[in-house]
Amino acid sequence: MTVAAIEKIIRLFLDGKKIEIAVGEERGEVTTALEDLERYIEADYAPYRKAVDELWMTYPYLDLEEARRAAELLEPIDRTSWQFVTHFLARAAKEVRTEEDAGFIMWSLMEPLDARTRTENIFEIAFDGMERATQAERYEKVISTYPVLAQRIPPPSFERSEGAIPFSGRMEFCLASLRDLRWLELFLHFHQKKRFARCACCWSYFVPKTKAETKYCYRSFCQEHGAQLMRKRNADADPALAICDDMRHLLSERAIRYEDAPPDRRAELFQIDSVAFGAWSELASGKRKEYLAGKLTAEEFLRAIDTCHVLASYDVTAPKKSGKSVWRQMVERDLDFDPHMEFPACMRLDLGRPDPQWQITTSEELRTKAQKGHQSLKDEYGKK
Ligand SMILES: [Zn+2]
Repeated sequence: MTVAAIEKIIRLFLDGKKIEIAVGEERGEVTTALEDLERYIEADYAPYRKAVDELWMTYPYLDLEEARRAAELLEPIDRTSWQFVTHFLARAAKEVRTEEDAGFIMWSLMEPLDARTRTENIFEIAFDGMERATQAERYEKVISTYPVLAQRIPPPSFERSEGAIPFSGRMEFCLASLRDLRWLELFLHFHQKKRFARCACCWSYFVPKTKAETKYCYRSFCQEHGAQLMRKRNADADPALAICDDMRHLLSERAIRYEDAPPDRRAELFQIDSVAFGAWSELASGKRKEYLAGKLTAEEFLRAIDTCHVLASYDVTAPKKSGKSVWRQMVERDLDFDPHMEFPACMRLDLGRPDPQWQITTSEELRTKAQKGHQSLKDEYGKK
């Protein structure tokens, strides 16, 4: 059997909002596209990916039993993908004799990984920073980023009110790949009111419980620390708040120096003691709150807290809007952008240095570099 002869073994039955997926003769449970995708996007593919990577090392001399063992790892991770791979491995040649045999096995094993990579890219485009958008706007953004997707499924009709399924009656879709299956599910999800959102704190995807804009998922870490880390990020990006923090640091140091100095030397120092600093600190906290609440402009805020006249100017240039991260550009450029391929760990030996040492850059480090300016709060401020 060759890759060219792949038949459409996946069927998706749609009945109202309910879906049922069948792979070959095996049918899955009745669920909704949203529930199925939620389970899918949360599943950890790492053990399976590792096993498939190891098989690639021996390619094209594959052991079919090892390939089957790798496939078994999928069952608890994603049952539909497991059924898909098992179906094709059952049809593989009993012995791997030719490169074509090996190629077919690897194709079967890679399809779940390719589907997952593609789905993650689509999720990022549709749900990252899109909490205020409507479902139709999310769909439009995906299609304008990846026009090829518009050809995969019949064009939708968003003319009906949100929440209406574009197809009526019981329908059956026949699909050849897991990639098309996940896209069809996402497509159906765009017609439902319930939506996915990306947690600003941990960057996982979740289904908000209410219609209100929801920034953080329901994990206890994100609920506890999300808002606080976001305030930290906003403060870091706000020049007026940064000036206020610098001023606090400066005045606190001057107060300590003043109090530590012998009384006869104090006259030549900046005149601030701990009591005066305490009073300033209280004033600055109040003004900072007013500024954050939008009651003061940046200039008014700085003027109000500069009671000790340490600032030369109250002019704050607006923070520059950072452009798209290298990461986001890569995701947008390629629907099948695979970070595992793009950021392989590498070793470098700089012979130009007096004492050359091997330097190892991990794929995680490369990835973080590409995501600079566009990362989860948890990654930005360290996992706790
Ligand atoms: Zn979270």
